[in-house]
Amino acid sequence: MQLIETVAAMKAQVAAWKAEGLTIGLVPTMGSLHAGHESLMDAARAVCDRVVVSVFVNPLQFGPDEDYEAYPRDIERDGATCAAHGADAVFHPTPEDMYGPAHNTYVVMETLTDALCGASRPGHFRGVCTVVTKLFNIVRPDKAFFGQKDAQQLAIIKRMVADLNMNVTVVGCPIVREADGLAKSSRNAYLTAEEREAALVLSRAIRAGEAAVAAGERDTAALKELMAAVIGEEPLARIDYIEVVDGLTMQPVETVGASALAAMAVYIGRTRLIDNFLYEEEA
Ligand code: AMP
Repeated sequence: MQLIETVAAMKAQVAAWKAEGLTIGLVPTMGSLHAGHESLMDAARAVCDRVVVSVFVNPLQFGPDEDYEAYPRDIERDGATCAAHGADAVFHPTPEDMYGPAHNTYVVMETLTDALCGASRPGHFRGVCTVVTKLFNIVRPDKAFFGQKDAQQLAIIKRMVADLNMNVTVVGCPIVREADGLAKSSRNAYLTAEEREAALVLSRAIRAGEAAVAAGERDTAALKELMAAVIGEEPLARIDYIEVVDGLTMQPVETVGASALAAMAVYIGRTRLIDNFLYEEEA
């Protein structure tokens, strides 16, 4: 497996693979890899000739008061994880190489970014859409793999690819959880033992919401109240948002329709965690 640290070297490797007629799968990550990322790599490995994992903590998607500097970084460990999961290359560029001093072009979406994390983190999805577009142009993947853990991000990337006629198939992969239910996240590393226990409240609230929908609840106000009540039982938890939106447009809805996303962001101490479930009516 190769560690590729410049945009130019990545483009050259991609050109060589394309010349051989090989298909390429891309798994974009910010590193600090865990079983959630590994599931994306495994999905890519199963269907693509060459697998590229990008490891890039993208400064553009962090707000000024967020954890860009503190975000966990360990490229040696990440490289070993990628090798163990059959990746052909880890693409690990520097921020300076990705964003030169004259960089002036951004990819901005209209309304899909209004709610949920887009509302709480202004500019976040502008950073995500811009970096993912750049990664697609550099790696030219046939397929790109994203987790349902970041459900709004997945919906936004799918929309962007369709709207801008990008030549890539976006593959969504299920949320990977710890045995006790906590969704795997690089940010779980910030939690103290006490907070780690408290963080279980997110998956508990998600399960309660999911069970209510399965039992026929369609009123989103009642659903949000139910999930908020579960979060409210945990003193270390502070709700950033709990919302139910249309699964495609990401706009808040009053009633659960054919496709709905129930999503939450909750602070456990100073760590902001997200979780969600997607409801899709059976056809
Ligand atoms: P990140 O490194 O947090 O930017 O995440 C990189 C990719 O891994 C994104 O597509 C995430 O949705 C995905 N991912 C992160 N955590 C999980 C998880 N617990 N289960 C599935 N996918 C995940």
